[in-house]
Amino acid sequence: MTSPAMTLQSNRSLLEIDRDHLIHPVTSFRGHETHGAILLESGKGMWLKDREGRDLLDAFAGLWCVNVGYGQDSIVEAAADQMRRLPYATGYFHFGSEPAVRLAQRLVELSPEGLDHVYFTLGGSDAVDSAIRYITHYYNAIGKPAKKQCIALERGYHGSSTTGAGLTALANFHRGFDLPLRWQHHIPSPYPYRSELEGDDAAIIARSVQQLRDKVAELGADNVAAFFCEPIQGSGGVIVPPVGWLKAMRAACTELDILLVADEVITAFGRTGPMFACEAEGMTPDLMTLAKGLTAGYVPMGAVLMSDKVYQGIADGAAADIVIGHGATYSGHPVSAAVGLEVLRLYTKGGILANGQRVGTRFAAGLAGIADHPMVGDTRGRGLLGAIELVANKGHKTRFDPALKLADRLFERGYRNGVIFRAFADNIIGLAPALCASDGEMDMIFARIRNTLDDLLEEADIRAAVG
Ligand code: PLP
Repeated sequence: MTSPAMTLQSNRSLLEIDRDHLIHPVTSFRGHETHGAILLESGKGMWLKDREGRDLLDAFAGLWCVNVGYGQDSIVEAAADQMRRLPYATGYFHFGSEPAVRLAQRLVELSPEGLDHVYFTLGGSDAVDSAIRYITHYYNAIGKPAKKQCIALERGYHGSSTTGAGLTALANFHRGFDLPLRWQHHIPSPYPYRSELEGDDAAIIARSVQQLRDKVAELGADNVAAFFCEPIQGSGGVIVPPVGWLKAMRAACTELDILLVADEVITAFGRTGPMFACEAEGMTPDLMTLAKGLTAGYVPMGAVLMSDKVYQGIADGAAADIVIGHGATYSGHPVSAAVGLEVLRLYTKGGILANGQRVGTRFAAGLAGIADHPMVGDTRGRGLLGAIELVANKGHKTRFDPALKLADRLFERGYRNGVIFRAFADNIIGLAPALCASDGEMDMIFARIRNTLDDLLEEADIRAAVG
C-alpha cells in the first residue's frame, strides 16, 4: 500500500510507480509485482530501445500493429497538421470531417468488392462489439429476431470487451469473467499440426465445414446470426488453416443463411501478403473488423466494414427519423483518420506493402530454416505472420511440462538476446515483423531466435525434457 505522498516522491523509480499504480493489460497482477515492466524508450524502423539503452529487434511489430515500422516522420506530420487544423470533430448529429470521409472512401476502394460502408471505432475490441450490435439490429430490422446465436472458433481471439472476450475462446479471457455469454458458441479450430488429419487439407476443410453445419443444426438455423473467424488465428497461436478453408466457410455460411464476420484485426494491411487476407481466397465477408495496421499503432483506431445487404437491412428496418443508437465520442476521430490515410499511402505509394511481400519470402525461408532445431515441432506462417511451435518430443508432438514455465523463460532469453517476439502459453513463438524489414534484419531475427533456443537447451531441466 503506497500513500499519496509517497507517490509524489520524485526519488521513486518509474518501475516502482508502475508496479504500484499501473494495471497492465493481459498480465498477472501478482506476477507483475514480482517481475515488473520493461519500459520502452524509443523506436526506429524495426528497432526498439529500452530505458537501459538496450537495442531490441522487434519481431512482433509492437503487438502485431506497427506494420510500417517505428519513426515514420510523415505520420507524425499528418497527425500534427490535423491537430493544428482541427483536433476533434464529432461524427454525431450529421457532423464529420474530411479525413474520416476520405479514409472511409479509401477502405471501400481497397477492401473486397461489396463492403461499401464503414463505421470507425477506437480499436479492435469495439469493432467486434460494433459488428455484433449491428448484426443484432439487422436481424431485428429484417424480421428475423430469433437469429441471435453466434459461433466462433476455439483458440480464436476477438478482443477484450465482454462480448468480444466471450467470442474469444482462450481460457484466461473466460476464467473469472463468467464467459462465454449464453448466445456464444465455439467449434474446433482448423489446426493442422494438432489434427490427426494433418497433411490432408481437403479433409481438414471438410471437417470444419461439417462442424459448423452440426453446430448450426444443434442451435437451429433460424436462431443463428453469424460465424466469426480470423482468417489466420493470431493470439490462439498463429494457426494457419489450409488454403481454401476461408472460401469453404464462406460458402457454408451462405448456404446456412448466417452472416460471416472476418476479423482481420491482425491479418489485414499486408500482414499475410495481400492487403486483406480474404483477398487471397477471393472471398467477401458480410462484415469485416479492422484495427492495428489501419493506423500502424501510431494512434488508436479500428473499423467495421459492412456489406450493402446488412446496411440496407438496417436502414430499411428503422423509420427514417429513428436514430440507430450506436456510437462513440471518438468514432471517426480526425487525427486518427489523418494518420490512417498516411499509413495507407505508405503501404501503397510508399512501397511498404510491396516490401512486405518481397521480404515475406525471406521470412518463410527463416521459418523453414529453424525447423531442424531439436525443440521445434512445427513452423507455419503466411506473409509476415508466423509461428514456431516448440515441443519436448518431435515425433510424438509432446508439449513441454507447464511446470518448466518455458514460455516465460523463452521471452526472457529472447529479450536478453535482443529480439522481441510473443511467447504463447503453449510454447508457441509468435512472429509478426513490420513490413519495412530488410533481408538482413529478417535473417537477424531468426539467428537471434536460434541463439535463444540454443541457450535454453543448455539449461539442465530443459535439456532433460527434450528427446
Ligand atoms: N480481434 C483480433 C483478431 C485481435 O487480434 C485483436 C487484438 O489483438 C482484437 C480483435 C482486439 O483488438 P484491440 O486490442 O485493438 O481491442
